[in-house]
Amino acid sequence: MARESAAVVIIGAGIVGSSIAYHLSVRGCRDVIVLEKADREAAGSTARSAAGVRHQFASEVNIRLSLYSIERLKRFHEEVGGESGLKQIGYLLLVSEPELWRQYQASVVLQNSLGVAARVVTPGEVRTMLPFTNVDGLLGATYCAEDGHCDPHGVATGYLAAARRQGVVVRRATPCTGIRRAGERVTAVETPSGAIECDVVINAAGPWAGAVGALAGVSVPVLPYRRCIYMTEAMPAIPVFPFTIDTSSGFYMRTEGD
Ligand SMILES: Cc1cc2nc3c(=O)[nH]c(=O)nc-3n(C[C@H](O)[C@H](O)[C@H](O)COP(=O)(O)OP(=O)(O)OC[C@H]3O[C@@H](n4cnc5c(N)ncnc54)[C@H](O)[C@@H]3O)c2cc1C
Repeated sequence: MARESAAVVIIGAGIVGSSIAYHLSVRGCRDVIVLEKADREAAGSTARSAAGVRHQFASEVNIRLSLYSIERLKRFHEEVGGESGLKQIGYLLLVSEPELWRQYQASVVLQNSLGVAARVVTPGEVRTMLPFTNVDGLLGATYCAEDGHCDPHGVATGYLAAARRQGVVVRRATPCTGIRRAGERVTAVETPSGAIECDVVINAAGPWAGAVGALAGVSVPVLPYRRCIYMTEAMPAIPVFPFTIDTSSGFYMRTEGD
């Protein structure tokens, strides 16, 4: 078998690995191989996500990241060539605990100071936005019309397609099974079809990042954690409503298509 090498090996073709592959390639780093253990790209958390994107966060760094990301999602087709599927249907965060309510109102003040048009909503207004909702015990809600959801699978595959056009190689059904080191430096990754010598390894294995880190003897404190999403049949009587989260229970819901 011929010796194989690459400047950079990315482990995982989810939205993170795909984005890194794209951004490396447009900056001129094209000697890149992406390894994906599944038989298709974006088959992990990325394809299973509820896909919510929102500006409504409590820390300045997260709000700034969201401002940047949502602008990029708006221009995704022009910039990258794929479809981000961004739908700004708004995000409504329902709050019924006094301490949380204080925190959520403070977050709106911070969001507004950074240019995000979030606002506080009364329980009466919530009833108008979500006509079938029981608002008993609700202290209020926060709302931002520019939040919503996107298509993470479309974003990941859009990034990968653009990276491929720049020369990046994507290997499906090729797990990284080992990482070789010489002292502090990585020298190669191992796969069932042979080793790939490389200067840099990027661990983009999502929930499996801990397991991949362990292959290099590095502790990455990430463990897979199962979450569940349920799809209902279409409910034509319910109009389109914002992506809604009950902050006490963590329950959330949104529409998909019609
Ligand atoms: C039910 C659910 C709902 C969510 N809702 C939201 C939401 O509303 N908004 C939001 O922003 N986020 C949400 N998330 C989180 C979001 O989906 C993840 O943060 C994101 O997709 C992580 O992307 P990733 O590329 O890091 O990981 P992944 O998409 O999991 O990709 C990692 C890839 O690495 C591959 N891999 C693993 N080990 C190896 C190996 N040894 N060799 C080769 N390949 C390997 C996997 O097969 C996988 O394809 C949700 C997640 C879940 C599960």
